[in-house]
Amino acid sequence: MTKRKGELIVLSGPSGVGKSTVIAELLGSRRDIYFSVSFTTRQPRTGEADGVNYHFVSRQEFERMIAANELLEYAEYVGNYYGTSLKVIREKLEQGVDVLLDIEVQGAAKVKERCPEAVLIFLIPPSIEELSRRLHRRNTDEEETIQRRLEKARQECRESIHYDYLVVNDTVVAATGEILSILEAERCRTPKRLDLTQSIVGNE
Ligand code: 5GP
Repeated sequence: MTKRKGELIVLSGPSGVGKSTVIAELLGSRRDIYFSVSFTTRQPRTGEADGVNYHFVSRQEFERMIAANELLEYAEYVGNYYGTSLKVIREKLEQGVDVLLDIEVQGAAKVKERCPEAVLIFLIPPSIEELSRRLHRRNTDEEETIQRRLEKARQECRESIHYDYLVVNDTVVAATGEILSILEAERCRTPKRLDLTQSIVGNE
């Protein structure tokens, strides 16, 4: 029997949609999922820790990683670099561990190009007004940054058409429930279960 490879799960959604909360809920219910900690050149926000939320690195170090081909994907987002390390992800998938990436739309498109079997899920807010309320409530960014993030959100939501699944983050519980169902369904795809039919019909 061939060993099952891990599932590569990509979650995108505009800044402030509540991705981190949904991810925390998801990882609480599925402790076997490995969350990939990205590299970024942006400054840590209050409460963020190096190695937990991100690996915070200088622009120089990030550019070295690009040149050395150490990243599965990377993108520049609102003036900063964000990227995913290739090495750890490859190891986890080979070990049969499911890997979750929280990345923006350009990075997600690159992942789909390099790994067509990746499952792309887009988390969308119930409305642009609600997204604006959430960004203001978070109280971490200047008004100008919030306006840039809202404009960016509109552009990003246009890209959701390229994703495999669209989940509305109205309540965290409902959104997490839908994502868990998606992952369950993905595991049942016929190509991933050929060994089950072979044990019944043989290799004729
Ligand atoms: P934030 O600054 O709010 O933490 O993140 C800004 C955006 O960068 C979010 O949409 C987040 O999903 C995205 N992001 C985080 N890590 C990565 C990464 O490794 N690659 C890419 N392409 N985007 C990322």
